[in-house]
Amino acid sequence: MEKIWADSGDSHVLEPADLWTSNLPARLAERAPRTERDEKSETVYVDGQVVFRTLVAFAEASSRAPGADDVTKRLHDMDGEGVRGQVLFPSRGLWVARMTDPDLWRECGRIYNDWLRNDVMTVSPRLVGVAILPALSTEDAVAELQRVAANGMHAVMLPTTPPEGRDYNNPVWEPVWAAAEEADIALSFHVGTGADPRMVRGPGGAVINYAETFFPGQRTVVHLVASGALDRHPNLKVFIAEGGASWVPALADRMDEGYRQHGMYVQPKLSQLPSEIIYRQVFASFQHDKSAIPAVTAMGYQNVMWGDDYPHLEGTYGHTQQTLHELFDGVDADVAERILRGNFERLFPAARAAMAA
Ligand code: MN
Repeated sequence: MEKIWADSGDSHVLEPADLWTSNLPARLAERAPRTERDEKSETVYVDGQVVFRTLVAFAEASSRAPGADDVTKRLHDMDGEGVRGQVLFPSRGLWVARMTDPDLWRECGRIYNDWLRNDVMTVSPRLVGVAILPALSTEDAVAELQRVAANGMHAVMLPTTPPEGRDYNNPVWEPVWAAAEEADIALSFHVGTGADPRMVRGPGGAVINYAETFFPGQRTVVHLVASGALDRHPNLKVFIAEGGASWVPALADRMDEGYRQHGMYVQPKLSQLPSEIIYRQVFASFQHDKSAIPAVTAMGYQNVMWGDDYPHLEGTYGHTQQTLHELFDGVDADVAERILRGNFERLFPAARAAMAA
């Protein structure tokens, strides 16, 4: 089987367990994300609250790759799987988005971003870190965005579910959108981040809760487009990671219909149709979805990117080549090139240039 090489738009580091407790000032350290394990379950605490509980078996399976928490071994894993570059989101750091204290979020983010920049990205240009932005304060978000951009980072992230009172159509965000466009840095949203949707128990719970993570990323796109944020910042690129891709054309149609049929209520007016803005500026990544390639070939949505979600259980570690062959064998070479490598370069051009150097 010929090896297919791909860039991954959605991968994760596994932070040292004591990253925050060791580096935060004492007044904040005890409220940082912290994990406790008993025989059966692993519990994540943030700011003294339980935010997540999972089976130990699940947590262990999600960090089973040798390079999950070892950067040198990670490069070896990537070579084995056929992954050239990885865009790195947090694992434990995903939980900062459950914080309600702006100082705690800002400081946890800053420590994470510096660790990612200094201890991970310096090892290889194939490792492309996404910086955590604090989302409870516009001023803090802009300052951190500008700081990490100046430090050579290529992407920043906000939660798919924004904090209470700070929906993404809210003008409070305008300086952040302007700063991201100005810095030419990809504005990224990873599914499953922010205040949780309702967790369901009982029949179907596992799949229901997994499917639920799909929707807030779509809501983010709706807010950014309908509010005119992307129209006002036509060079701002938005990336919804791990949420699949074929929903994008359907959502674009839905928004066009609303924009046209409810036109008498629509404000602000946009300079183009919602679908045109979405097709220009919104990128989306998938791992296994059979529907993702037809989004490009049958629906004309070009900004589809593959991701391995390494080392998480939702990802392709251990079967990446099998998955890529199942997805891409027989697919037009230009389409495969775009999804596997080209869109990574469009979204993270400076990172790709550094990898090639
Ligand atoms: Mn992911």
